[in-house]
Amino acid sequence: MRNIYADNSATTALSPVVLEKMMPYLTEVYGNPSSLYRIGATAKETIERSRENIAKNLGAKFSTEIFFTSGGSESDNWALKGVCHALKSKGKKHIITSKFEHHAILHTCQALEKEGFEVTYLDVYENGIVHPDDVENAIREDTAIVSIMYANNEIGTIQPISEIGAICKKHNVLFHTDAVQAAGFVRINVAEQNIDLLSMTAHKIHGPKGCGLLYVRRGVKIDNLIDGGAQERNKRAGTENVAGIVGLDAALQIAIDSMDERNARLSKMRDRLIDGLLKIERSRINGDRISRLPGNVNMCFEGIEGESLLLKLDLNGIAASSGSACTSGSLDPSHVLLAIGLPHEIAHGSMRLSFSDDNSEEDIDYILNVVPEIVSYLRAMSPLWEKIKKQEAAEKAI
Ligand SMILES: *Cc1c(COP(=O)(O)O)cnc(C)c1O
Repeated sequence: MRNIYADNSATTALSPVVLEKMMPYLTEVYGNPSSLYRIGATAKETIERSRENIAKNLGAKFSTEIFFTSGGSESDNWALKGVCHALKSKGKKHIITSKFEHHAILHTCQALEKEGFEVTYLDVYENGIVHPDDVENAIREDTAIVSIMYANNEIGTIQPISEIGAICKKHNVLFHTDAVQAAGFVRINVAEQNIDLLSMTAHKIHGPKGCGLLYVRRGVKIDNLIDGGAQERNKRAGTENVAGIVGLDAALQIAIDSMDERNARLSKMRDRLIDGLLKIERSRINGDRISRLPGNVNMCFEGIEGESLLLKLDLNGIAASSGSACTSGSLDPSHVLLAIGLPHEIAHGSMRLSFSDDNSEEDIDYILNVVPEIVSYLRAMSPLWEKIKKQEAAEKAI
């Protein structure tokens, strides 16, 4: 049996190269960056060097536009709450987002709704892509911010971010994008793409957990989410995660340097896997096949439960997920699959495989062998599958 980690959209293994770069800041250079003595000053210089390099890699004009956070969830919370609270006194009380955002955005929107803000949740259609026209039509006089994710974490669809950025600029509305899944896989240039705020996190690109960033364009008014010390230019308190910041910088640099080669390799593996699995009867691929992250495969197999499929995959050495619902232990189907119009019973039979540099063509061969067997096995004892087959026979008889 092979052991295959195919849940890289949930988190990735820390790269040994990244760990090596982080190590000195965990052991030797442990000083507090806010202190004046040498060991603290060195830590401070290191943070600023990372900030500059990250700014360059994201196309930010100034390194002071990069604020380090504890990760994607904090950055998403801060972007929406910070901007909405800052613009409230100007009468801005409307947010535009989409139905299939990460819960870090959706639950933040719900919290803001409780405070009196109004939220428009845009449709993402069957292919899992937001229409820029819909964004434009939803903009109101009192719109504070538009937040559309760069790439979806469950179905991997890549959104028309430059088009949406241009629309927001035209209407003078702030634009935030959750780029947690996209960073390192697509070329991002916040200045050219008219992105005012951008979230990312290190642990989805072979960096450490617990470190991320929020890009905030110079001039954008944003209230603090975390108050305390004067770190991050008084905008985000807390002693800096120096090793984490070094790891985030290194991970992003490696991801960008190897992007073209990796994307070509992964998309070839992805397409072979999708084509192979689509041979299973009553299977479907979720989300657009072209505008899609190179490592993302998300499929449904009618007549089976995603949970049983995942358990069976695990017994066969494959670590996969069914999207976000399963991880929370909830039995509700994924909000993303419902947003692209799947009926509940089909959405229940979903499987997400997400690949990284660590995966190989041999992994794909193995999965192509194992999954059809598991699907047949589970269908053989599924009352739902029996019903589907009976219905099929009845339709044929007519
Ligand atoms: C993982 C993820 C997050 C959360 O990031 P954390 O660093 O784990 O808090 C937010 N948005 C998207 C799209 C993600 O995939």
